[in-house]
Amino acid sequence: MSAAVKRLLVVGNGMGAVRFLEKLVEFGAESFQVTVLSEEDLPGYNRIQLSSLLAGNCSLSDIQLQSLSWYQSNNITLLMGAEYKAVSIDRNNKQVTTKVGDCFDYDELVLATGSVPNRIPVSGADLDNVIAFRTLDDVKVMQSIASGQGAVVIGGGLLGLECAAGLAAQGLHVTVIDTMPYPMPRQLDARAGELLKQAMEQKGVAFRCGAQLESYLGHNGTVSHVQLKSGERLSTELVVVTAGVRPDISLAVEAGLDSGRGICVNDRMQTSDPSITALGECVQLGEQLFGLVAPVYSQAEIAAKRLTARSGERFVSEPVPARLKVAGVEVFSCGRHSTDEEAGDEEIILDAGRLGVYRKLIVNNGCLQGVLLFGDTASGSWYQTLLEEQQNITAIRQQLIFGQEYMDSMTASIVDRAA
Ligand SMILES: Cc1cc2nc3c(=O)[nH]c(=O)nc-3n(C[C@H](O)[C@H](O)[C@H](O)COP(=O)(O)OP(=O)(O)OC[C@H]3O[C@@H](n4cnc5c(N)ncnc54)[C@H](O)[C@@H]3O)c2cc1C
Repeated sequence: MSAAVKRLLVVGNGMGAVRFLEKLVEFGAESFQVTVLSEEDLPGYNRIQLSSLLAGNCSLSDIQLQSLSWYQSNNITLLMGAEYKAVSIDRNNKQVTTKVGDCFDYDELVLATGSVPNRIPVSGADLDNVIAFRTLDDVKVMQSIASGQGAVVIGGGLLGLECAAGLAAQGLHVTVIDTMPYPMPRQLDARAGELLKQAMEQKGVAFRCGAQLESYLGHNGTVSHVQLKSGERLSTELVVVTAGVRPDISLAVEAGLDSGRGICVNDRMQTSDPSITALGECVQLGEQLFGLVAPVYSQAEIAAKRLTARSGERFVSEPVPARLKVAGVEVFSCGRHSTDEEAGDEEIILDAGRLGVYRKLIVNNGCLQGVLLFGDTASGSWYQTLLEEQQNITAIRQQLIFGQEYMDSMTASIVDRAA
């Protein structure tokens, strides 16, 4: 190896790492000898599409991000499987050790270890078929449950609902359990939540909202029932826990890198060690953590630019809308909504719930601060632009709730009349 070529070691091969590698190749990876350690045993895949895979709307090959030949043709050594899980970093000797004791030297190290799903520490949590929804292996377990059996999803957030819809599409009798009074409470108000619940019920998903989990009960080591504190006991072959995730910081903490809830980075994705970069869901920037792919991709590009000396670009956090990926159930939510109200917030509401349409806009000081759309989300991106650019909407305030198409038709008719 020529002295000018640096050893670049990447830990993790999820969505952030693959985007980082793609950008590295685009910007010129010739000054690096790149090795990737991945504990998952297949090349990086589009984790977002696990919901579609479960619902039977795409195949495994559709979700692969890059083929093995792509890694080969770009001289990237991809080492996959449980034996390549990185377990420690020796920062003095710049060396990473894997689960089976193999050592890898680096000049530059990139940590892209993602998140780990939260478990709920109740009795029975270790039973077979009590799983998370994070990896392809989780989806394989879900697909192994025969049609007509019961399944319970703990958590009525985005992930829980997508999981429940996928399992229902597979022919399972699915019940979603949540402590909150309606689904997606972080993104929706009570009215939209109720409409969403009804739409999901029409897809065959049952709910126990405001319910407290007591334990999982098993038979021969496999889950058989879910016990609620109300006394109700649900028969089930499968429990999927979607109770949030937390950054996977275990390697970083053991190596003494500055960490809080995530691995602390600056806005150029540098950790407290100048030779170690971190990006994706494993990081913390200020007080902020990241759970959606848009900021992860932006961080990957910034890290690749810095390491290839392309630019001193810095990460800037942008609001990212939440969109539910359940066929036929349109939900869009961006910015603030009623539960995080601020002084001076005004609500503009269009409630045509019987037609399956509900919209709520939050306006403050002449600018849009929050958008919630249920049923018809076609104007979502348009509202998002108004929100991100903080455009003054005072002149169109009366018509704003009707959406982009209406506003465009109004403008066209004014132009027609003027012509
Ligand atoms: C079902 C599902 C649906 C989603 N839908 C959306 C959506 O609609 N929109 C959206 O924006 N986001 C969505 N997300 C979130 C999105 O997938 C994540 O934001 C994104 O994958 C984060 O990328 P990452 O590289 O940080 O982590 P990951 O993609 O999780 O990759 C981390 C990788 O590192 C590996 N790893 C960890 N530790 C080690 C180690 N010590 N050694 C070796 N390898 C290691 C892990 O096994 C994993 O493969 C969804 C997530 C899931 C699970």
